[in-house]
Amino acid sequence: MEDCIFCKIAAHKLPSNTVYENGRILAFLDINPASRGHTLVIPKEHYENLFDMPEDILKEVIVASKKIGKAQKEALHAKAVNLVNSSGKEAGQVVFHFHMHVIPRYGDDTHQIKWTPSPESRENLEKISSSLKEKMDND
Ligand code: 5GP
Ligand code: ZN
Repeated sequence: MEDCIFCKIAAHKLPSNTVYENGRILAFLDINPASRGHTLVIPKEHYENLFDMPEDILKEVIVASKKIGKAQKEALHAKAVNLVNSSGKEAGQVVFHFHMHVIPRYGDDTHQIKWTPSPESRENLEKISSSLKEKMDND
């Protein structure tokens, strides 16, 4: 992907502050962080979002995210960590090269992950879970 900024970062054609790297994964600091140490974990190969990601690479991203989260706690004294992935523009995805945000939380930061909960009827919950289960059983 010639125009993909994260492909260029993965190929070290653009600079980044690398936090972790192995053969298939790169993690680097977000240029516009939600909190101190906010890190992005990407596959070096271009996949647009969660749905394109091969499962083995997805697992590597999660394992790397755990390592990074642990380092954020131990080296930066984060108290907690959010893992955030936006897959699709309606979810807020802006860069269309898969990335997992690993966001350290300090208790006093301004970052918010919030939605407005609304109650759902027991009947609707049953319908929704059935349609999802049926879909996955048939895949
Ligand atoms: P998204 O909204 O797609 O989940 O998040 C994209 C993230 O990429 C944003 O948090 C943004 O700050 C970060 N970002 C965009 N361009 C660059 C860049 O060139 N370098 C780095 N390090 N981060 C970037
Ligand atoms: Zn890319």
